[in-house]
Amino acid sequence: MKQILMGNEAIALGLIHADVDVVSGYPGTPSSEILTNYQKLKDKLNLTAYAEWATNEKVGYEVAYANAMSGKNSCATMKQVGLNVASDALMSSAYIGNIGAMLLISADDPGFYSSQTEQDSRTFAKFARIPVLDPASPQEAYDFVKLGVEISRKFESPFMLRPVMRVGHARGICEVEENHEFNPPKANFIKNTNRWAGVPPGPRSVQGGELLNKVEQIRDYNLQTFISPKIAELKGAKTLCISSGVASTYVREAIEENKLDAEVLKLDMPYPLPYHKLNELCKSYEQVIIFEEPYPCIEEQLNAPNLLGKFSGHVHQIHEFSKEKVIESFKKARLFNDSNPYQASKFNAHSIASRPPTLCPGCPHRDVFYAMTRTFRSKNSIYVSDIGCYTLGLNQNAIDSFLCMGASVSMASGFSLAHPEKTVISTIGDSTFLHSGVTGLINAIYQKHKFILLIMDNSIAAMTGRQTTPERSNPENIDIKRIVEGCGITCHEYVYKPDMNKTLDFMKELKEIYKTSDMPIVAVIREFCVLDKERSNKLLPHKLVSVDSDKCVECDTCISKYKCPPMSYGENHKVEIDPFLCAGCAACIDGLCPTDAFVLADLGEEK
Ligand code: SF4
Ligand code: SF4
Repeated sequence: MKQILMGNEAIALGLIHADVDVVSGYPGTPSSEILTNYQKLKDKLNLTAYAEWATNEKVGYEVAYANAMSGKNSCATMKQVGLNVASDALMSSAYIGNIGAMLLISADDPGFYSSQTEQDSRTFAKFARIPVLDPASPQEAYDFVKLGVEISRKFESPFMLRPVMRVGHARGICEVEENHEFNPPKANFIKNTNRWAGVPPGPRSVQGGELLNKVEQIRDYNLQTFISPKIAELKGAKTLCISSGVASTYVREAIEENKLDAEVLKLDMPYPLPYHKLNELCKSYEQVIIFEEPYPCIEEQLNAPNLLGKFSGHVHQIHEFSKEKVIESFKKARLFNDSNPYQASKFNAHSIASRPPTLCPGCPHRDVFYAMTRTFRSKNSIYVSDIGCYTLGLNQNAIDSFLCMGASVSMASGFSLAHPEKTVISTIGDSTFLHSGVTGLINAIYQKHKFILLIMDNSIAAMTGRQTTPERSNPENIDIKRIVEGCGITCHEYVYKPDMNKTLDFMKELKEIYKTSDMPIVAVIREFCVLDKERSNKLLPHKLVSVDSDKCVECDTCISKYKCPPMSYGENHKVEIDPFLCAGCAACIDGLCPTDAFVLADLGEEK
């Protein structure tokens, strides 16, 4: 049966058709739609399966892995940066192995479209010594999930699927199974302390040796199943291009469209490679160019003397592929001499309006950042933040630094030690605080580090598509205020109102408390996400605002410090509000403009 599917939808369907009934993960672009779609399919088909967002990637991996130890088919989803968090569990599980299937889906983001690093999950698979398949299309993403379950069960090894953003977010026609009968294996955990609970140096060193044997067996399986049939189809050309995943599609198109004397060997499983066979194959070509993104994972495993790639400087090292980049590599390898047919015209920065990343109109984070920077002036403060929508506070000069999930709390500790003369203020969202901020807070409390921590709680993982959070799903039992209090300190609470004066008053209260404290000052600010209709419809006043141009003195406060997108200077050089963009929060009416130029539009007309 044919269906048009987005890559992440194809993966979700593949999981169901591979009888995977436990899926756990943490949202992160470009992986988030996998679990979301699995949840939708599970509900639509009325399947008995588990599919939940975990508090972080490591937790998600461990939940899934315990099921794979018990013989079930399970899966953990995340993005490449999240794999760093799950890496501790991954490395140990690679040694121990599994009885059922353990699928790790780590979506990569070559080109840093929504990530702080480009890193390559295939390299992580190599580090952990587990097999990885690299799909080039939604169809392959679907097929490789099912193959991965087979491989994981056959070799009793965790298996990695590594789609990149151009696969997960692309749409394609997929041939999928029709009328699949969902029949996941039953759990049957068999106690075996040596295997499941072995400690160094005895059982674990045995497992280390077994892992090396397993890698050799998978290497051979890779040769027999994937590589040999493709080698048999090669016609012989001057140049061989070895590639994997979506990079191979750019290479193939560039060769065909320009009628070049080259052919492509696409490696579906970039680790572990049968390097003896591949090095031997390279000898029959004048030159071999390795195209892969983003890191040289294949290139690191081969050592034929005629190899060209990232190490030789023939292939670019950072950012995703394009046909233009492929042709540039071919020019360096003297395979192509004409001008680059894919050369894009130079980007003209003046042709489009400058639009820096910014928070949505009506977002409570904007008010909190504005009140924070007004109360704790930049010169006397250090603002540390974290990963989430609120990272967009950069635009309001409310962030001096951020590192990775949860680090804002421990970094606030570090800055408070380095700069006791300054007020250090950390901002973090609710999902990120539960992900890994709470550990930093426990450390700060026990070591008495003095800073202010603002937990901006909109009860949703907003930036990745509004996935549910633990406290949203189970508010009776999980509450950030009580978690903080459980760490032994007061948690100050502010229920956000779209009224700048009230938000400013709360910041001033914190400033007073901070003066006499020798501990972290923690506050939870109960907010909402404007895109979360369930809550924002009740909490937004839906009042449109306009500007009284007689009162606007062009002081620039609203444009350069508050930065709500509907605000701009009109032809008369006074501020105007675009009614199409205004969310109707009315937060700007009081406490923002020094001349009170913001007024309700049309006598409080409802939006
Ligand atoms: S803050 Fe008030 S006076 Fe200043 S530019 Fe904005 S609308 Fe005009
Ligand atoms: S009411 Fe003011 S603060 Fe709220 S969205 Fe409209 S312009 Fe922005």
